[in-house]
Amino acid sequence: MDVRTDGVVLKARPYGERDMILTLLTPEHGRITALARSVGKNKKQSVLYAQNFVFSHYLLFKGKGMYIVDSAEVAEPFYGLRNDLSRLALAQYIADVAAKCGEESDAAALCSLLLNSLYLLSETDLDAELIKLVFEAKYCIAEGVFPEVICNVCGGGEPVKWSFRNGFCCETCGDGYPITAGMVSALRHILANEGKKAYLFSMNEDSFRYLSKLLSDYVAFVTDTEFPSLAYYKSLLL
Ligand SMILES: [Zn+2]
Repeated sequence: MDVRTDGVVLKARPYGERDMILTLLTPEHGRITALARSVGKNKKQSVLYAQNFVFSHYLLFKGKGMYIVDSAEVAEPFYGLRNDLSRLALAQYIADVAAKCGEESDAAALCSLLLNSLYLLSETDLDAELIKLVFEAKYCIAEGVFPEVICNVCGGGEPVKWSFRNGFCCETCGDGYPITAGMVSALRHILANEGKKAYLFSMNEDSFRYLSKLLSDYVAFVTDTEFPSLAYYKSLLL
């Protein structure tokens, strides 16, 4: 059975002499694995499609247990990523997080978030930390694991703490990492807005750095994963 789908390469690993196994994020089928046969052998087919972060239109054949790439037409290679090591490292972290998506995730939203984040990293000079922070928050929304930004206990009080296990809570209702009113309004802004608008908020530098760290920690918590690519990205900022 043939399947036409768009897909972004999250991971590409060699398989045997000439084959590659690609982990793709697709808007219709979520995360899938596809075997790319004889990469580089067919002169009509660019090898570019089998590289990380490249977005292509695929024609796949559904084999036993795995898709097989019949053809791929590269739509966006995000060349700009290759010009900046720290933005490339961040793209790797974003792809690694996206690869953790579950069966129940909103694949279309996640795919659009991934493409948007890669585009901003590759083609603009928007602050990388801001791209990371918005990606992390929206990833958690697409996965259905971002708590409502209200007190999750009484439902009324303004949140001043964030418990990764129990959600946000007000002063009297529980414990968690302290959060400021600026962080609460930034999170509400990101949650309420799509596309470019999601990135348009301001807060002081200290709160921004702290919120950025909390979101990375929350992603590690919900995916139960420490990402070496995040540690590498951070090491490049020192
Ligand atoms: Zn409360």
